[in-house]
Amino acid sequence: MLKQTLCAALLAALAVSCSTTTDSCCETKSSAAAPSSTMKSLAEIQAQGAKFKNVLSLPQFETTPDAIKATAQSTIAEGNTLLDQVGKLAPGHVKFDNTLGALDRLTHQVGSTMGRLYLIKETSPTEPMRDAATEAVKKLQEWAVGLDYREDVYRAVKAYADMNPKLTGEDAKLLKETMRDYRRAGLALPKAERDQVEKLRKELADVGTDFQSNIAKTQRPLKFSKADLEGVPDSLLGAPGVKTGDDEYTISVNVTWQYLAIMEHAKREDIRKRVVTEQHSLAMKENLPLVEKVLVLRNQIATKLGYQNWADYVIEVKMAKDGATALEFEKKLRDGLQPKFDAERDEFRALKAKETGDANAQIYLWDWRYYADQLKKEKYSVDAEQLRVYFPMQRVLDGMFTIYQRIFGLKFERVEAPYKWVDDLQLWAVTDSKTSEPLGFFYLDMFPREGKFNHFAVFPIIDGKRLPDGTYQRPVCSLVCNFPPPTADKPSLLTHGDVETMFHEFGHAMHGILTRAKFTRFAGSSVPGDFVEAPSQMLEAWIWDKGVLDSFAADYRDPSKKIPPAILGQLKAAKYGIYGNHYRRQLSFGLMDLTLHTQITEANLKEAIPLANKTLSETFLPVPDGSALIAYLGHFVGYDAGYYGYAWADAIAADMATVFEKAPDGYLDVNAGKRLRDEIYAVGNSRDVNESIEKFLGRKRAIEPFLKKIGVK
Ligand SMILES: [Zn+2]
Repeated sequence: MLKQTLCAALLAALAVSCSTTTDSCCETKSSAAAPSSTMKSLAEIQAQGAKFKNVLSLPQFETTPDAIKATAQSTIAEGNTLLDQVGKLAPGHVKFDNTLGALDRLTHQVGSTMGRLYLIKETSPTEPMRDAATEAVKKLQEWAVGLDYREDVYRAVKAYADMNPKLTGEDAKLLKETMRDYRRAGLALPKAERDQVEKLRKELADVGTDFQSNIAKTQRPLKFSKADLEGVPDSLLGAPGVKTGDDEYTISVNVTWQYLAIMEHAKREDIRKRVVTEQHSLAMKENLPLVEKVLVLRNQIATKLGYQNWADYVIEVKMAKDGATALEFEKKLRDGLQPKFDAERDEFRALKAKETGDANAQIYLWDWRYYADQLKKEKYSVDAEQLRVYFPMQRVLDGMFTIYQRIFGLKFERVEAPYKWVDDLQLWAVTDSKTSEPLGFFYLDMFPREGKFNHFAVFPIIDGKRLPDGTYQRPVCSLVCNFPPPTADKPSLLTHGDVETMFHEFGHAMHGILTRAKFTRFAGSSVPGDFVEAPSQMLEAWIWDKGVLDSFAADYRDPSKKIPPAILGQLKAAKYGIYGNHYRRQLSFGLMDLTLHTQITEANLKEAIPLANKTLSETFLPVPDGSALIAYLGHFVGYDAGYYGYAWADAIAADMATVFEKAPDGYLDVNAGKRLRDEIYAVGNSRDVNESIEKFLGRKRAIEPFLKKIGVK
């Protein structure tokens, strides 16, 4: 019943989009901050909000582990009281507000607690706080799973639905989707079958947790000599813990950045092959039995609920609607990419033939990253590090804020934060620039530190919602970043990739803050999982545009110097030059995921792993014999039957970007920005997203812009 906390979806997404980001742990450094004289007071913003009947409250953060524990307990106790009230309603007394309205209020209360505790878990500077928050989040999640099965609550809601109330718009959607949730949980089944579904779901949750913790626990240190690692950069060889003897280097295959450094740079094929083979067998022993168990449980649950398979069950609530549609989409892309994929492989092969002297050299799974890197250097002469000087952190932030303020018609103002979990935390208020209506807040937590979440992400804290007294609770979120800390002689300098991620993540922040949805269930980015990334993926296009970049990017040593167009062109060509490989690899995971979740049942369970390997091998490059990457693929739990969503959303993103590309002011066009704000961000999930996308586009969706972007002719 409770909306899945958004963080989970966004974080899972980030785990893929930023899989090459390296982790670093440094001391927190203070940043250039606005002088306090330019800061607004919280009271000023709140008073201004009151004129618009907007509530601009900030989260009340717990500051001790005991307080966190107490919050979890009281949230559950208050939630149970509210549910008891709904459950006790006599059939003649059910109304919209005391059933569906009450449940949405509960979702908002619990969601706000979860949002706050999740943020503490990922950002608190002290370990006991993080541990207490982890425990509390777990407790709340377990409790939330049981909510679907409150039969008394279900009966009250059903009694209301059975009255066939004349509802329209968002109200009608809330009733329809709430009843759909109950049906999907098995509440519409006879008692005995429903109990079975509940039992299977709990079992599935337990096995899923074990699967994930086996991945987290897996370690695979491999020892090499310096000669083995020819070509590998000092950034890896000199990293803490890597040099373990006179001529001994220990590489952790399970640490992504170390794995990637080997795959991109190790000159010796036998070394690369060994590392790929080891990576493809991580967690195999522990997780293969669990993969089978999960597949059986999912199939049993889906069929008991009347679906043909798990993919149909999962995708019913998304844009694609069923497994066959998602599968068809992925297969078309796979086939369309064949010529580009082949051409790229020929380029890799030529490089390998030249390097090895073997005219018949073939490209294997352990080769593609290495030769993709060579291709970048040889053909495109790209050195991404060269661009850092153009992206000092403060300039990037100021520039990004200017662009978002312009296209969405907003004003961002620093506000004195009454509570800070780190000294250099910033708090910003977002206001409509025309009407001066305050719309929400975002925090900015900028630098890495021990124990902090190690990528860039947006964590929603308070979602938007119309309150019972007619006022509107405006949203609050936090940007959690890991900018390289400034040094004695240099400011914090970002890579172009960091800037792209910032534009992406800030899009999620806007999606949350600009909401006008009445119910929290539909607020902000609570849209279907195969759409949620699309607006942010679209905004990544901004930082490939020379005009946009020139509005803020400049050499920190001499701001009159802008990014040379040739470098940007090379970087772009290099990115798209290996897009066939990039996408065929993505599709290999998406197709494996959909194939398993449409074809595997208890009867043919033993075919699961061979089928998974066959799909990977046929779509991308043959996997090592005896391997099973699925055992180490975290997406198998949480993004199940959902991996296709990246490509699906990317296709919509490319289509949506054309609205700006064709507008008079391009990516800075205010009319296109207003439409994005009104038709996509403000609406959220309060109407069918298909309708919202068409309203934004002013036409039906088209796949062509995406095919063009990824190089399908
Ligand atoms: Zn995202």
